[in-house]
Amino acid sequence: PLPLPLPHVVLLASPGIGHLTPLAELARRLVTHHGFAATLVTLSTAGFSDAAAEAAVLSSMPATVSIAALPPVALDDLSPDVGFGAVMFELLRRSLPHLRALMLSSASFTSTAALVCDFFGTAALPVAAELGVRGYVFLPNSFALLSVMRFVAELHDDAAPGEEEYRDLPDPLFLLPGCCLRHAELPDGFRDRADPVYAYVVEEARRYARADGFLVNSFEELEPAMAEGFRCDAAEGAFPPVYAVGPFVRQKTGSEDEEEEDDELGCLEWLDRRPVGSVVYVSFGSGGALSVAQTAELAFGLESSGHGFLWVVRMPSLDGNCYALGAGSHDANVNDPLAWLPEGFLERTKDRGLAVAGWAPQTRVLAHPATAGFVSHGGWNSTLESLASGVPIIAWPLYAEQKMNAAILTGVTGVALHPPVGREDGFVTRHEVVAAIRELVEGDKGSAVRRRAKQLQEAAARACMPEGSSRRALGEVAAKWRAELGNGTRVHEL
Ligand code: UDP
Repeated sequence: PLPLPLPHVVLLASPGIGHLTPLAELARRLVTHHGFAATLVTLSTAGFSDAAAEAAVLSSMPATVSIAALPPVALDDLSPDVGFGAVMFELLRRSLPHLRALMLSSASFTSTAALVCDFFGTAALPVAAELGVRGYVFLPNSFALLSVMRFVAELHDDAAPGEEEYRDLPDPLFLLPGCCLRHAELPDGFRDRADPVYAYVVEEARRYARADGFLVNSFEELEPAMAEGFRCDAAEGAFPPVYAVGPFVRQKTGSEDEEEEDDELGCLEWLDRRPVGSVVYVSFGSGGALSVAQTAELAFGLESSGHGFLWVVRMPSLDGNCYALGAGSHDANVNDPLAWLPEGFLERTKDRGLAVAGWAPQTRVLAHPATAGFVSHGGWNSTLESLASGVPIIAWPLYAEQKMNAAILTGVTGVALHPPVGREDGFVTRHEVVAAIRELVEGDKGSAVRRRAKQLQEAAARACMPEGSSRRALGEVAAKWRAELGNGTRVHEL
């Protein structure tokens, strides 16, 4: 008899390296640990993300993960000021006919057990239902974000017509187990009904009830109260089951099959020459941009701190926007961010500091013994990568859900310090930079945060061991998918 085809799963990636990396890791684990074949579907994202970084992730996938790029869709009718989030939701929505066609024409269609979409992509859940496959949502983020999404939709739907908007409600607005969130800490676009992305967020959250389940890039010991809350809701049938399957952290091994750019090697070789625990790594993710004045102030702060630093400098924002769309381009020949640093800074700090233009091999920098702390925008991947290496954080949130992450990491999880932001506009002075770095690396408060980061490093490692909670949770989902295929409960006769 012919061997049965491997059970197959289709994963639809939202644009951006912060989405692609963990979804690709999910695909990798489904094929290497759970015997699945996978198709990782990407969208045409010219201008929205860093093509080089995304290509590097895709080229590192094992052969049992096929890559399929959907054709581009037109977005030029959207007004330029609808904002990044609304463009993402539209891009995903408009790509659905291509996704449907791809799945139907796939040789693996009859063995496809599930379609997994990402944040921004739940408009694909009805496609899964129509094709008779399970529809799951992978959230490259925390239980907390999932909780806030539910809360926003419920609040919206419960509001009587004409009732005050929740932006007018008193703080604290939202109580996560063990944590109050102030209104200002809610993710961008969630705070104001007039924001073009608000309606998309509400619609996205409403679709959650239709998902067969959620996979969250978190682990039980990181968000225990949240995980328990979702477990109770699932038991009562109030919400689909939510599985903590992370942390998905891409570890470049430096083996021959992974190409390394010279500047990546440069960072690591530089770290090799630094004393253990002497360097603060500074990076604001794939899209974070500081103003010209804030870039200079941070430089003066790093210079005065007396500590070593490795700073991924990006082009400063000239328009007040702290998110630079497509800022992932790290082609220093086009724009040289280092040219924006204060006069003489590089020369004065060359003995203990390294400033690199645009990009560093972050997971390896964080895993390096010389790295003592991370000044971070608090993107969720960066957070997990820091925890996976036991590195404590100075949370410097800029956009998206980063303020919420910062509030939780400082107030609940205890793995981060806030720079003491004194100014209304969020500008951080050089003295505050110095104080935060010294506290994190040498201070008493810092010592508790350092200890906690090490505890969570161990917990993250435990979660991913063969008998660990995250590995078991993904195994449970995989077994469910496999059993449904085996039972012939799938309906493919369309
Ligand atoms: N990253 C990197 N080098 C850099 C900046 C970012 O490798 O210089 C990677 C980082 O390791 C993480 C991702 O880009 O995996 C950024 O994701 P995150 O969720 O932290 O933030 P986002 O960019 O989505 O805001």
